[in-house]
Amino acid sequence: MAELLTIEEALAAVLGRARPLSSETVPVGDAAGRVLAEPARALADLPPFPSSAMDGFAVRAEDTPGSLPIALRIAAGSPSAEALAPGTAATIATGGAVPEGANAVVPVERTSSHDSQVEFLEPAEPGAHIRPRGGDVREGETVVAPGARLGPVQIGALAAAGVAAVTCARRPRVAILATGSELRAPGETLGAGQIYESNRAMIAAALAPAGAETEQLPVVADDDAAHREAIERGLAADVLVTSGGVSVGPHDLVRRIEQELGVEETFWGVAVKPGKPLSFGVRGQTLVFGLPGNPVSSLVGALLFVRPALLALQGAAECGPDFEWGHTAKPFRRNAHRDEFVRARRGAGGESVTLEPVTGQESHMIVRAASADALVHVPRGSGEISAGAAVRYLALA
Ligand code: AMP
Ligand code: MG
Repeated sequence: MAELLTIEEALAAVLGRARPLSSETVPVGDAAGRVLAEPARALADLPPFPSSAMDGFAVRAEDTPGSLPIALRIAAGSPSAEALAPGTAATIATGGAVPEGANAVVPVERTSSHDSQVEFLEPAEPGAHIRPRGGDVREGETVVAPGARLGPVQIGALAAAGVAAVTCARRPRVAILATGSELRAPGETLGAGQIYESNRAMIAAALAPAGAETEQLPVVADDDAAHREAIERGLAADVLVTSGGVSVGPHDLVRRIEQELGVEETFWGVAVKPGKPLSFGVRGQTLVFGLPGNPVSSLVGALLFVRPALLALQGAAECGPDFEWGHTAKPFRRNAHRDEFVRARRGAGGESVTLEPVTGQESHMIVRAASADALVHVPRGSGEISAGAAVRYLALA
């Protein structure tokens, strides 16, 4: 293996090859998780009219304190009522349109009313409990900017601003291929030398939240013809992710077959543990990732490189990976040559998250990894990271 790239170099090489996909119109109700391609603008002022923040009475502040006759009754949604005559009050519901003439709302708890008369004990503050028109956003202003990923807050904001549909990058189509003659589908009976195939489902689960439309191709045995056919099929997608067969063994065929099929390899080998023999290349617009077969290696590669690539294809402003900060619960030994990702459990340690490694850190130990909820990034170097040191981690939840 030639010189290993650092994680940063490898990620930069990947992102540098990701050309934004075309965009499409998506109903806001279906747009969660998508990346906005064009600015979404408010169809109206929000609130669209001065509205009451409380259930209570709309008044002219200068008419309080004192007792006023109730001249109007305003429910939320009732069409813009008449103006409030001087020396009168209006009952008003939260969200009701404050009538012309009124300049304050007094919450019902601070009044006493009987029949058609209401008593105000204190003077009302002008402007109190009135949400001014356009206080949240003005018609035509940007509600969500291009490059933003639409989470619940953005979806709510778009709908509130009257936006019914948005322009989003189309979802990247990702073909996922597992290679290995030893692999059997979960649920089948294992024969001699066989193991269950876990990577396709795992990789799909890792990539779906980044907007991928995944297709799991049938598993292929370690022979040239099977590889050629499956890889050619996968190359029709926007992204092809293979697992296994990228090391140096005689049965590791993926890179050679890809080269024969016209994939131009950008790099092979990243200074990361687990996940070193990761390969990356392109054919046309298709990004091609060769993840190593050990399940934890595959997972690390998918999270560190494939997910950011998917977000870049969708034009996201932030492509990740999204590291968070915590503190080591005990010393972490460093690897001299490779950055390491250590499976750990998060705990609450005072003001910060503490990170305790789980037992079983080998790259085939996916079941041990399942008890972890963090991948702690231990930069390569000598000695160890002491207990209590600040470290970055990727949340696994
Ligand atoms: P490879 O990268 O093909 O040399 O595979 C490395 C190790 O990962 C071997 O022990 C394989 O059996 C195992 N492995 C490869 N692919 C998968 C898979 N899809 N699911 C589970 N284990 C796998
Ligand atoms: Mg293999």
